[in-house]
Amino acid sequence: MEHAGSEISPLYRQNSSTDNDRRAMLELCDSTLREGEQTPGVYFPGHAKLAIATLLDRLGVHYIEAGRPAVSAEAGAEVRSLCEMGYRARIACPASPRTDEVTTALGCGVQLVGVSCWVAEQRSRQIHDEPLDQTLEPIVGVIELMKKSSPRTMIRLTVEDAVRSPFERVVEASLIATQAGADMIGIADTTGCAIPGTEQSLYVLIRRLRERLDARGCSPRLSVHCHNDRGLALVNALDAYRAGVDVVDVSVMGLGERAGIVDLAQCLATLAVDFSACDMILTELPELYRMVSKYSGVTIPHNAPIMGKYVFTHCAGVHSHAAIVDASHYQSLEPAMFGRKMTISLDHMSGLSSVRHAVEQLEVELNREQLALVLSKVKEVGRHNRTVDLEELRHIVTWCLSKDSGSV
Ligand SMILES: [Zn+2]
Repeated sequence: MEHAGSEISPLYRQNSSTDNDRRAMLELCDSTLREGEQTPGVYFPGHAKLAIATLLDRLGVHYIEAGRPAVSAEAGAEVRSLCEMGYRARIACPASPRTDEVTTALGCGVQLVGVSCWVAEQRSRQIHDEPLDQTLEPIVGVIELMKKSSPRTMIRLTVEDAVRSPFERVVEASLIATQAGADMIGIADTTGCAIPGTEQSLYVLIRRLRERLDARGCSPRLSVHCHNDRGLALVNALDAYRAGVDVVDVSVMGLGERAGIVDLAQCLATLAVDFSACDMILTELPELYRMVSKYSGVTIPHNAPIMGKYVFTHCAGVHSHAAIVDASHYQSLEPAMFGRKMTISLDHMSGLSSVRHAVEQLEVELNREQLALVLSKVKEVGRHNRTVDLEELRHIVTWCLSKDSGSV
């Protein structure tokens, strides 16, 4: 049942952040088309990529990570065609630190190329069997190559597993890459192990890294890539934002490897409402999420914050009664801001005011006894694990009225 009220309640916290909370707009790099395809079973065909990228651009994300062109000629052609769309968003892609891969990426016309490295000693020895300077050598080479052949293309070096890596090595890699020409340093919490409020937080890591780079006269943009293994990806991203990071990687529905990464809509909600750090067109979100769900085959959980089917739906009688008077009594977010509507669920938890509110939408007038009978039928349906929609409510009302009016 949709709520007809349109007045914005003062209880909503929109734009109520303190001066301390106000910061520069945070930029978002959407990785649905790259990280999202690392969700088992998810593949976006070219036409889906085009449709999704167009919606992402309409929403206003700053970067769209479009896939890895070096994977195949087809993948390269898809990235190239997105580059030719003239989006406001910059098209980004990852590449291995090899001359052929970065040349392919540049040939597609991308505006940001991301290369990554591991600096943890154990990883260097066990997987790559080489010391750090050897790991960084080819990266420095390709960064210099890219800077020379395509000076306007942004370059991001991402330090993978940075949270578990020796801090001095993270600093060293960041300095070397920046001095070679990298514009942005990415800090990846690859296994989702950063813990807010501790020494192992992205807040501490970003602050310390920024200080060390500043001290050396280096001022690259900083980005974070937070995985959600502990369910902390969004909190960690916001932690990094408060520490002064410039860019956060996100994806629609948080799609990605294992538990995925930061959910785009959830990140936008806090940025927009609590930090005034977002100027995107949030009403584009429902269509974007519908589209990604359709093409990924991944269902949006009903209770997913912001975009879940029931996150602006009130169920229990007392809640619904208060929400009908003023939805903000049981909501801290204004649904219309996200292209959503507050609704009242009719089921076994409903009370008289919910039914009255719904019946009003049918433009039917019932007396109190008739309403009570309708409520009893609604509750009966609800006890079978169902909700009553407006169509079924009309049928229930008709059924009730068909009874002897004297007995109802
Ligand atoms: Zn990732």
